Amino acid sequence: MTSDGTLLSVKDVSAAYGKVVALRGVSLSVKRGEIVAILGANGAGKTTLLNALSGVLPITAGRIEFAEQRIDGRRPWELSRAGISHVPEGREIFPSMTVEANLKIVDAFGSGPVFSVEDVLNMFPRLRERFGQAAGNLSGGEQQMLAIGRGLMARPRLILFDEPSLGLSPFFSKFVLGAIGALRAKGLSALLVEQNMRAALKIADRAYVLRVGSIVREGSACEIADAPDIQEAYLGA
Ligand code: ATP
Repeated sequence: MTSDGTLLSVKDVSAAYGKVVALRGVSLSVKRGEIVAILGANGAGKTTLLNALSGVLPITAGRIEFAEQRIDGRRPWELSRAGISHVPEGREIFPSMTVEANLKIVDAFGSGPVFSVEDVLNMFPRLRERFGQAAGNLSGGEQQMLAIGRGLMARPRLILFDEPSLGLSPFFSKFVLGAIGALRAKGLSALLVEQNMRAALKIADRAYVLRVGSIVREGSACEIADAPDIQEAYLGA
């Protein structure tokens, strides 16, 4: 971490799928204990950005530094061990294994705060009730809690959330986003891609707006939430 508290620094990063350029010269930063929201319309490049940060998609230009180490070009498992945990939109859980097994097989090799199985069950009491059940039989909201629990047990310093409230009822959506907001108190940092942009801005410290692969705005979550053009374009005002 640098002296100003920067944990993640992304400089002029581009990425492409063959000839389709999905990120163009993206620069952003995340400080320790900060929750940063990435806003943008469908196809803006939000998921691509998270995939580039977790090493799933190689970048074609630019530089990514995490905890003062250059990390672009590293593989996903190396980044996981370095302290970056990715909770993807597809909720990567093992459906035929129990909730207990899903939690206990996580490699806790990161260098961030320790989360035990008990910590995850305290955070998401619904998982305690479903502890012995196959994960594939859980509701969408419960599966999302399990995916987040697994992400935390890897002991990240930075956690990347891709649409954590996708498909959830308003109750579960609020609960899950509230739990993400509470991670700040543990000193964790998060990048949050969320379709419910209004809710994301409520728990974020800062936000960036992506449009067709480029950052077009950045500011505090309050500034972005109050900007009339953002309200009109993204917040349904
Ligand atoms: P959404 O909110 O709809 O999930 P997004 O902001 O996450 O969108 P991305 O999924 O990152 O956007 O997509 C950015 C661009 O890259 C889009 O034009 C998309 O069509 C393209 N793209 C994404 N994945 C692939 C792929 N595997 N192959 C080719 N093009 C892709």
